Parts: sequence; structure tokens; C-alpha cells
Amino acid sequence: MACRICGSEGHNARTCPQLPVPQNDAGEDYVVWARYGGLSKSQAKDIRNGIENVVDEKAPESYGVIAAGKASKMPERIQQAIQSSSREKKLLDDK
Ligand SMILES: [Zn+2]
Repeated sequence: MACRICGSEGHNARTCPQLPVPQNDAGEDYVVWARYGGLSKSQAKDIRNGIENVVDEKAPESYGVIAAGKASKMPERIQQAIQSSSREKKLLDDK
């Protein structure tokens, strides 16, 4: 599938090298943080994928981290998320 931004193959709109650096009108950066529990492994994966799809559609120029996996591993994942560079797009999953 071709990238929606530049039309090239091999990457998508979220990872397009043509992405402009987002301009912030008021210098204010908005973020989303969420955590849901009581999920099965497949529900966690589905929700993670759903978030990715919504981000691709609504804010392909955004950056961020999605962590989905065992609750016991989440503190480690959050630590990794905080340490990762702020303009990266990342998925953190249990191996
Ligand atoms: Zn592209």
C-alpha cells in the first residue's frame, strides 16, 4: 500500500520521511495518555492496533509510544517510553 502523504511504497503516513515537523500555533503540545486493564492478550493487541489506526487517520504527523502487554511488565514499558526520544513513534510490546 502506498504512503498517503508522498505516495511511495515501503512506509506509511506515520513513518513518511516527507512529514513536516508539526507547527504548534500557541506553543502548546497536547498529549493523550490512557491505561486499560482487565483485558485478554488479544483484546490488548486489538486496542493497540485500533489506537494506531486512529492516529494514522486523525494525526499522521504526530509522534508517540503505544505500550500493550502484561500488566506486570507495564512499569518497565513506561520507563522505556519515558526514555525514548520524544519525536519517535514506537510500539512497546511483550516479547
Ligand atoms: Zn511517504
